[in-house]
Order: sequence, then structure tokens, then C-alpha cells
Amino acid sequence: MKISKIRAWKVDLPLKEGKYAWADGKFVEVFDSTIVEIETDEGISGFGECCPLGPVYLPSYASGVRTGVETIAPHLIGADPTNINRVNQLMDSVLCGHPYVKSPLDVALWDIVGQVTDRPLHALLGGQLQSTVALYRAISQGTPEEMAVSVGKFLDEGYRRFQLKVGGNPDDDIERIAAVRDALPGDCVLVADANGGWTRAQAARVVDAVKDLDIFVEQPCATYEECLSIRRRTARPFILDEVITEAADLIRAISNDAMDVINLKISRVGGLTKARILRDICIEAGIAMTIEDSWGGDVATTAIAHLALSTPSRVYFSATDFNSYCDMEISPDAPTRVGGTMSVSDRPGLGIVPLATRHVRPAFQVES
Ligand code: MG
Repeated sequence: MKISKIRAWKVDLPLKEGKYAWADGKFVEVFDSTIVEIETDEGISGFGECCPLGPVYLPSYASGVRTGVETIAPHLIGADPTNINRVNQLMDSVLCGHPYVKSPLDVALWDIVGQVTDRPLHALLGGQLQSTVALYRAISQGTPEEMAVSVGKFLDEGYRRFQLKVGGNPDDDIERIAAVRDALPGDCVLVADANGGWTRAQAARVVDAVKDLDIFVEQPCATYEECLSIRRRTARPFILDEVITEAADLIRAISNDAMDVINLKISRVGGLTKARILRDICIEAGIAMTIEDSWGGDVATTAIAHLALSTPSRVYFSATDFNSYCDMEISPDAPTRVGGTMSVSDRPGLGIVPLATRHVRPAFQVES
């Protein structure tokens, strides 16, 4: 089997809530996502998606995904898509770094291998260990009152785990955290996620002010060293997200006892191949995980679901159903939230066909 064609589509994902805001006044209103298809000479196609959270969240941006995939694609024509590690080597040999560019291509390879072997991706990623997975809901930054109302709405929809977007003015953030914790039943999980927006001093003030509240603290500051400093000053359970970009970061963080939980974003680490390695290190080290991505629609959500379902419940923290945040159905077969959980089908590979791409001209295509 050989790769015969690679296409990419630009897909806009408008937010149902109109706007998603997080640290330092950053926000997005319409997400610019890229769906990649790898077609083979045997008629099987695999899909992947990469949707950066705008251009100022991580060192990744939407047009960078498409430019990068277009740069790599000619070198993959003729390669065996079932040899995933070889294709990853090829990608690394033509483009240094840029893991987010390689992620949708890597996911598409896994989708192809699933179809060739007639197995769903969760079976290939170690085997299904959970029948459904609990989801978290991200609460866009607003006033404390707005955020308490928002959390109540999503509580009614069935979510029991919430990630509060803070990382703004620390006095406002202390009020946001207190107001939302107060609005939630005691058995709900609340994470205060600063997305690296606080200075050390600001983070130190906030974690001290909320020390008696039942919350998790996530990525208070931008750098690993700053986060480690705050980790050592608080007894609250601690989550690292943006600073864990590869296995070496994770191993260092485990050896420093730098966190209790990580957020594993598939495109940030370069796709399912790398995400699985980090996931399995976390399993061995007893580090819990939120399985997610920077953003996405149906394709990204389906990849998240397969990785999450093959993760043991003991170290499973939460996952995200990004496709429910946006008003754009790409595939009717993608996971749909039921209460605060999602599952995925046993169809081979990802088990979805992104029909929406059929009505839009690809951003580009490369073929043999
Ligand atoms: Mg986070």
C-alpha cells in the first residue's frame, strides 16, 4: 500500500457561545481548523485534524498547519502509510520541529492502519479500558457572575468537571474561583487554569487566597521553572499543560514531582504516536491525564475519544468534546456527548468520514 494523494481543507468552526476568552485578554470567535486526508493506492483514506487555539496560544498557527503539511506532503507520496514510524521519520527528515504540523498526518496514518486491520483506533492504542469517558467543560473568562452562570448552564447539560479560564487580574481571578466553586455541588471537579498568564507573585497570591477551596491549579505561569516554584508553595493538586511538549519534558517533570496531572494535547506533541508514548509514561508513573487537543471539530474530538477510551480510569482525569463547542458538523459519525460523557464507535480506524470536506474545495492537494 502506498500514499497516493494528500489533501488539506480549511474549515471554519464558529463558536456557539460567540467567543472563547482566556488569560491576558486573549480570545477567539471563529476557529480556523485544517483537516488532512491521506489517500492510498488501495482506495483507503485516513483523516486527521489540527486546530490551534488561535495564533497566540502555543507556537502554532492555522496557516502554519497548511503551509507545513504542503511542505511535507510531496515527500510522503509513495511511502507505506502502515509503517507509521517510518513516515514519522520521513516527516522529521523534511521539516525540523513543528509537531503540530505533523499531528494531523500522523492521526491519518493511524486511521488508515485501523481500516487495514479492521480495528478501531482504541484497540490499536492499547485496547479499550473504559466504555465512556467523563468530559470537562472549559468556562470562558468573564466576570465572576458570568462564569458562575455559565457553569450552572453546563452543569444542567450533564458536565461534572469544569476548567475555569483565569490567568487575568489576580484579584478578579480569586473572585472568579470562589464564585464558581460556590456555585458547584461538592462532588464536581473544578480546575483553575491560568494558561501561564500569572507572574510568580500573582500566582503565589492566588494559590494562597484559594488554599481552602477544593480546586486544582493548572499551569499558573508561562515557564516550567515558574510553575515548579508555585507547585512547591501550594497543597492544591497541580496540573501542567503547555510546558509538556515532549517525553523529555514529562520525564523531567515526573522526576521533580512537578505535577499530579498533565493535559495531553495530541497536536502539541505531534500526533497519536507521540501522545501514546506520553500517555503510557503517565500510566507507569501514576500521573493522571486530561486527554485533549488545542481545539478542533469532529475529527480531533474522535481522535481524543479513542485515546481516552484506551486510558485506564485510575489515571484518567478528563477529556474534551470540542465538537460540541462549535456550530459545524463535519462528520455525523463523530462522538456525541451524552450527559457529561462521550464514547466512540467500534468502526475501523477513527470510524468517521468527514462529509463536510466534500462540499469545499481543498486548500491544496499533492499527488503522485
Ligand atoms: Mg490548560
